[in-house]
Amino acid sequence: MLSQLLCFSASPALSVSKNYLLLLKPLSLARATVCHLSTTTTTTTMSVNLQSHAFAGNPIRSKTPKPSDPFSPNSALETLKTQLLETTHQINSPNFKVLPFRKGRPLASNSSASDALGPNWRLGWIGLVDCKLFLAKCGIDLSYDSLVYLGSESAAEAVYWAVNVAEEANLVPEIGAEKFCFVELRTLMVATDWDDQHAMGELAIAGHARALLEWHVTSRYCGNCGGKTVPMEAGRRKQCVNDLCKKRVYPRIDPVVIMLVIDKENDRVLLSHQSRFVPRLWSCLAGFIEPGESLEEAVRRETWEETSIEVGEVVYHSSQPWPVGPSSMPCQLMVGFFAYAKSLEINVDKDELEDAKWHSREDVKKALMVAEYKKAQQTAAAKVTQMCKGVEKGQSLSADFNVESGELAPMFFPGPFAIAHHLISSWAFQDSVNGFQSQPKHAVAD
Ligand SMILES: [Zn+2]
Repeated sequence: MLSQLLCFSASPALSVSKNYLLLLKPLSLARATVCHLSTTTTTTTMSVNLQSHAFAGNPIRSKTPKPSDPFSPNSALETLKTQLLETTHQINSPNFKVLPFRKGRPLASNSSASDALGPNWRLGWIGLVDCKLFLAKCGIDLSYDSLVYLGSESAAEAVYWAVNVAEEANLVPEIGAEKFCFVELRTLMVATDWDDQHAMGELAIAGHARALLEWHVTSRYCGNCGGKTVPMEAGRRKQCVNDLCKKRVYPRIDPVVIMLVIDKENDRVLLSHQSRFVPRLWSCLAGFIEPGESLEEAVRRETWEETSIEVGEVVYHSSQPWPVGPSSMPCQLMVGFFAYAKSLEINVDKDELEDAKWHSREDVKKALMVAEYKKAQQTAAAKVTQMCKGVEKGQSLSADFNVESGELAPMFFPGPFAIAHHLISSWAFQDSVNGFQSQPKHAVAD
């Protein structure tokens, strides 16, 4: 298993067979062949290999600058303070980009640049002046401690911030002719073209921002003494104001194990259906890690509790930040595993799951091939466009997911935005991607 471990830990190396790619438009297919593994494989081995999972690979937070760096959180905060003291007309800060959120929804707009590729979206970054004016309309004075620092892009000399705007105000910014809309992050997730690295980067930024802002909301008081907390280091941590306490509080991450349980023969996988799922959607088992428990123990315990299946070997696959869970838990980290079953008899815990079944590789492949993920993505993107134009108000998530099922599919799996999809597809097609298992570590590293 060591080779598998090395391979999977080097990169998610999210592989999907060429059969699966036949579902994509020729343009997507051409782009897909250029990425990642194709540098070390022949052009006939076509695979969709995401550079990273959705919400990972954030392009503006890759490195933490040194404190003296003009783009470090504290330097950026000092500049921000100066800028905010200026009168509105004097602020000239094209490189200060602010992303407003409302109820966990980032501001988005249409991406006119991608018209040729069909509808798409981009984050609704606005400058400090526009942000100040917009917040004034909502009855809020923009202060430096309401902004949280997201990161920088030194080539563009840009610093990025996020801010929560009032829930009660139903306003959206209007800047020139550009139309904006606050869009559910899950809808943007489905709408993101996973072949488009820039769009995937935007999604990762939005996910990071949402997690940070939600954490600020839920950490307003010190858990130690009950005193108020204030943001420090441009919102990257908080501290209790009580002089006798001064407890430092850091952004919380809630780790979750997600596992594809595989039978001894490596022929079948255990998939489950939860009552909250849309009909015909099956996925991997998952569960929160408990205190004092290793990841492997959590995989075995959760599998046993939910299905009475005993798991032996547990092999790490990859991990994914998941900021689209409940708002009380905006920063889950999904840690993905292959879990090898020692038993076969399923006894479903009906409190946890509606059903769990073994599925053959053939059935899983079939389900992956008939699912219309690309169509779901394009439909969701078109919906975002309509929302930004003010045509559509609804944000029905189940509708987004239903599209990907295809009309006749007896079952389908979460789309390529979810680690579950890649656990399932990399197992299903592990034999058909030539050489994948034996790629040396450097060949798949970012
Ligand atoms: Zn305290």
